[in-house]
Amino acid sequence: MKSLSATWTDSKVLNIEYINLSDPQDDEVQIKVGSAGICGSDLHYIRGDKPVTVGSIPGHEIGGFASAVGKNVKHLKEGDLVGIEPVVRCGVCRFCITGAYQVCGDRGLVGEMFNGGMSEYINVPGYTAFKAPNGFDSELAALAEPLSCSAYGLERINLRSHENVLIIGAGTVGLGALIGVKAMGASSIVIARHPKQKETAFKLGADEVLGDDEPGRDRLNELVKVHAFDAVIETVGGHGDTLNQSLESVRPLGRVLVLGVFFSKVSIDAFYLLDREMVGAVLYGNMKGKPNFQMALDVINDHKESTRSLVTHRYKLNDVQTAFSSAMDKSKESIKVHLQIN
Ligand SMILES: [Zn+2]
Ligand SMILES: [Zn+2]
Repeated sequence: MKSLSATWTDSKVLNIEYINLSDPQDDEVQIKVGSAGICGSDLHYIRGDKPVTVGSIPGHEIGGFASAVGKNVKHLKEGDLVGIEPVVRCGVCRFCITGAYQVCGDRGLVGEMFNGGMSEYINVPGYTAFKAPNGFDSELAALAEPLSCSAYGLERINLRSHENVLIIGAGTVGLGALIGVKAMGASSIVIARHPKQKETAFKLGADEVLGDDEPGRDRLNELVKVHAFDAVIETVGGHGDTLNQSLESVRPLGRVLVLGVFFSKVSIDAFYLLDREMVGAVLYGNMKGKPNFQMALDVINDHKESTRSLVTHRYKLNDVQTAFSSAMDKSKESIKVHLQIN
């Protein structure tokens, strides 16, 4: 069959073209994509931090309907709404068999090593497709992917309800972490740069929102002095100094959770590691008998409309280039930009 798709032509341009798509293999499911989100990591291709594969289709935040189901895929039937956990893995290595498939040496991501969801149809391994709860639509199902990282990360830092968290950054990852933190009953203070981010952080229940400016820094210093932060969640990544800011801000014996993706070596003041802990969570898995992706679906199920408020811009597939521009330009007040495909 033919599937209209966005394909990389060079680092800054996406083409719209029909590609040939085969029927799904026995272990695969074919998805009629409803929504595909643009992730910050997709923007790194445009910024030149990562090389593109010409002809490949981006998109690893995918919600849609099963349009054909391979005969070995038993947990789905045609017409089911699913979210895609885009981590393709070997399934047999020592990490995979303990559910830590996010560190499988043979892993590859749908939307990176494999064609992604910015296409009318896509074939994916059956195990990547999670049936969405009742009352979901494609948009909510696609949002489970960016929220899965924080589901995993919050598990790793053992966040407890009486604790206070500083979240650095208020893009989708930061605000998604905020939804997770609030769902666990903890308090949170968010550092946000843009007006729309600040407004959304308040709406999602942040106890305080600080600007990335002089008054914000003064207030942060006040709070740091009294050891206000049991945990800090870093969500900015890139090339900045937010790892040091996290280590300086968390109280002694506190935990730093790194959700941001860094693209260059950054130096940290390792002295802080004597009495502070730092863990990263860029992907997610199933280490405790319940996949982090399923946790994210369940959190969204309880917070549908607040999660949906992360989506600020919606475009048709043909407007993919404009969609990427909106995602790049935070002055356009974008948080999560979605393509609405079918
Ligand atoms: Zn992503
Ligand atoms: Zn493996």
